[in-house]
Amino acid sequence: MPQDSKHNLEILRHSAAHLAAQAILDLFPTTILTIGPATEDGFFYDVLPSTSFKEEDLERIEQRMHFFADQNLPITHKEISKQEARKIFGNNPFKLELIEKIPGDMVGLSQQGDFIDLCRGGHVHSTGLIKHIKLLGLSGSYWRGDKNNAPLQRISGTAFFTAEELENYLKQREEALLYDHRKLGKQMDLFSFHQEGAGFPFYHPKGKRIINTLIDYLRRLLDEQGYQEIATPIMLNDELWRCSGHYEHYKENMYFCLIDSKSFAIRPMNCPGSILLYNERPRSYRELPLRLAEFGLVHRHELSGVLHGLFRTRAFTIDDAHIYCMPNQIEDEISAMIKLVYQVFRKFEFEHISVGLSTRPDNSMGSEILWETATNSLKSALEKNKIPFKLQEGEGAFYGPKIEFKIHDSMGREWQCGTIQLDFFQPENFDLSYIASEGTKQRPVMIHRAIYGSIERFFGIILEHFKGNLPFWIAPLQVKLLTITDAQLPYAQKLFDLLKSENIRAEIDLSSDPLSGKIKTAQLERIPWMLVLGNKEMSQETITLRYRDGKQETGLSWTDLRALIHKNS
Ligand SMILES: [Zn+2]
Ligand SMILES: [Zn+2]
Repeated sequence: MPQDSKHNLEILRHSAAHLAAQAILDLFPTTILTIGPATEDGFFYDVLPSTSFKEEDLERIEQRMHFFADQNLPITHKEISKQEARKIFGNNPFKLELIEKIPGDMVGLSQQGDFIDLCRGGHVHSTGLIKHIKLLGLSGSYWRGDKNNAPLQRISGTAFFTAEELENYLKQREEALLYDHRKLGKQMDLFSFHQEGAGFPFYHPKGKRIINTLIDYLRRLLDEQGYQEIATPIMLNDELWRCSGHYEHYKENMYFCLIDSKSFAIRPMNCPGSILLYNERPRSYRELPLRLAEFGLVHRHELSGVLHGLFRTRAFTIDDAHIYCMPNQIEDEISAMIKLVYQVFRKFEFEHISVGLSTRPDNSMGSEILWETATNSLKSALEKNKIPFKLQEGEGAFYGPKIEFKIHDSMGREWQCGTIQLDFFQPENFDLSYIASEGTKQRPVMIHRAIYGSIERFFGIILEHFKGNLPFWIAPLQVKLLTITDAQLPYAQKLFDLLKSENIRAEIDLSSDPLSGKIKTAQLERIPWMLVLGNKEMSQETITLRYRDGKQETGLSWTDLRALIHKNS
């Protein structure tokens, strides 16, 4: 979607939030409004009703929205003094709080018909333009997202410019709900959450199998690419986090504990550990580029309201790597990383990937020349790999430019996964150096990169992307052997042993169900391959291979099957 239309859609959706608030106040005049922003795919309005809304109220509210839309009321906006605003919103403690937080003496006021709202503006011109709307749900929320504040009710919805777009979205949403990874995780016995540790996932054997496969796959590639794997502590003392700047900027999201009456933090990021290891002894230019990879478990405190299955957890593992190199090595390193990122995403059948390059912001640190060298290296690496990218001028971190990769899944959603972040700050901050060929002490450049990002989140993404039907190579149980009668069990056992020798995760169905029942069970378990074995197969030493979608191949020899296994691994 072009940036312009994205912006227009935001304006439309935010206006739809006002329309929802207008409808709510019309039907339930004692409701207290808080805020109603546009979101990634719609809008919400958080309100404090005098009696809780029920699902069936949504339909009435939506009808009322259409009523005000049909009236085609002009939406106007003006600036008023805070003093006047305090009078207008005197009965609304939330709006009063917002008024105090707005800098300056003036605040914005929007109006449509009798309805007024505190707002900085950015609306469509009249309610008649807000036609294609749908209220989607009711949920609990808290003022400012904080559990210690007043509990509120959130009314969410969406709006589009055309009926067709709205219809497509609703269809896609229905599909997404059907294949919600939390639902699949339960159905497929992969993971669970427990109230004893909200936001901390428990992996069941099959789920852990998948996580391990994700890690094993990447580990093999990293090995080929000259990375070396390290492991650094999950807890380090506060001094380190003060030095890295995390304490100052990220303290609210960190967990702390005392060891021998000294304060330690559980790491929210893996970088400082890698840096200490680099700095442990003098480094020579001969060692560079030094590629240190770490599958690092991090903990970050997220508000309970935003936790969302594996997508938003309080503990997750990053497929992290830190590359220490000389400025003239940046381009080759980035180029190799880009290739690796594409190789990995293609393996998971993500065909469409969008790439953004964020450049120097106003408040940056590091010399002009370093920024220029680095940014040009990133650009040139992208161009040499023929990767189209969007230039995001000024959107880089203050400490270096970055490349971000977004994958598009089978349901048309976008996920930001891989990042390549250059860092001029930490090498300075921790006084990192290497001895150059001419014997002088030089400062290396540090590159942070992740491909999956959070492995947990990536797991959730692929689960939804494949709608639970994971490809053969990553499925926790790959093959199920189904005999027509017990007479074929010895043959099944023989094939099972052969499969094991190929490291295939297989199981023999030992139940006394008829074949149709065994097939049904395997389908429910979403097993990619079933080997159907009857007397004919046993006597001819062949295999009937039945795929998850019901397609079959008959008369396969073990050699044929083994070739298929290798093709799909
Ligand atoms: Zn507004
Ligand atoms: Zn890092």
